[in-house]
Amino acid sequence: MKICICSILIWLTVFLDVSAQDKLTVVKAKALVDVRNGQLITPAVIYCRQGKIEKVDSGPSIPADAVIIDLGAKYLLPGLVDAHSHLCHEYQYELEKIPGANIVTETAITDNATRALIGARNARDMLLAGYTTVRDLGNSGENTDVALRDAISKNWLPGPRIYAATRALSPIGGQFSKMTANARKTLVAKEYIEISGVDEARKAVREAIFNGADCIKVIVNNNQLSLNQEELTAIVQEARAANLKVAAHATNGDQPALNAINAGVNSIEHGYTLSAPVLKLMAEKGIYLVPTDRTGVPRYQQRIKRAQEAGVKIAFGSDMYYYDAQRNRGEVTVSTYHAYTQSGMSNVQVLRSATMNSGELVAGPGKIGLLEPGYLADIIAVDEDPLTKIETVEHVVFVMKEGNVISRRD
Ligand SMILES: [Zn+2]
Repeated sequence: MKICICSILIWLTVFLDVSAQDKLTVVKAKALVDVRNGQLITPAVIYCRQGKIEKVDSGPSIPADAVIIDLGAKYLLPGLVDAHSHLCHEYQYELEKIPGANIVTETAITDNATRALIGARNARDMLLAGYTTVRDLGNSGENTDVALRDAISKNWLPGPRIYAATRALSPIGGQFSKMTANARKTLVAKEYIEISGVDEARKAVREAIFNGADCIKVIVNNNQLSLNQEELTAIVQEARAANLKVAAHATNGDQPALNAINAGVNSIEHGYTLSAPVLKLMAEKGIYLVPTDRTGVPRYQQRIKRAQEAGVKIAFGSDMYYYDAQRNRGEVTVSTYHAYTQSGMSNVQVLRSATMNSGELVAGPGKIGLLEPGYLADIIAVDEDPLTKIETVEHVVFVMKEGNVISRRD
């Protein structure tokens, strides 16, 4: 994505003009997508003040002193929410040929300052692609996600609102493969908090909270090692006591996910081959599936179909962390919706997964992911009706975050 000068100018101007927040701002367009009900509301007239949506109306009587942003023939959507990002994490495709080379290279060579700057670049590109919120689930070095979150919230630099996990909690060895004892001692702690036993599980959550976590990411299984039921239950109890949600990375069959579900986590990340009974249990307990699919793998597609049949809420999560020489992080991330449509999800189901569902999973009810009164004024615009032509979300032409215009292309 080319960043046009006008986008940057708008960002600078608006971010410096805090008083604009007090004024009534009215965003007008041809239509808005009512994601909840899967229909268009025409014309779209959204009243915003103090960074929130005050009302959504189609009426003609806009107060004379309102600031009007007229987007003409565009279609409005809620700002996109990526429930599984890794902004400060970057792998190289060419290193994939050697098992384990990417994680060792990143942790041994890339220092925290560089990780934070990689995050700053990715955050900007994600926001311009339409992502106004992300839940950043670890692999950020030592708390660079928290530094990035705070820099963005202080308006030092542009980016989505970040819900940061800090280092992921994991079995011994994190997500590294076989390595020497010395290397393990040095490298694993840069990326993970290793757990063995209930006391360490509780301590790890407290450490993440001390480091500034907004949510807890737990790697339930890696290679032969899995956290057990008691450890996972302790993690969820500690997180709940601090009002934090838990995202559980679970792969390799049903058992790791079942342990996490029984512990009471909020979402299963990946769950590539979950069976129908496990998915049914998730639906009953209101636990989200964050599929993180990137391209169409048939067995992954089958489990998305099973999840939909079971009534599991699906939240979009890109799990994107590879460097792509052709496209920036925002462009690559938004393109992953193809994996969802290829799995049989309709356009409105995909849109719900990337707005309403991911918004509720990440921030709780009533805050982000819908264009309704009381929600934050996170609004994006596209050229065509995304309910019939979802490809249009790959070319977002307007981004407003919490009432501030970030970019606009006519
Ligand atoms: Zn991930």
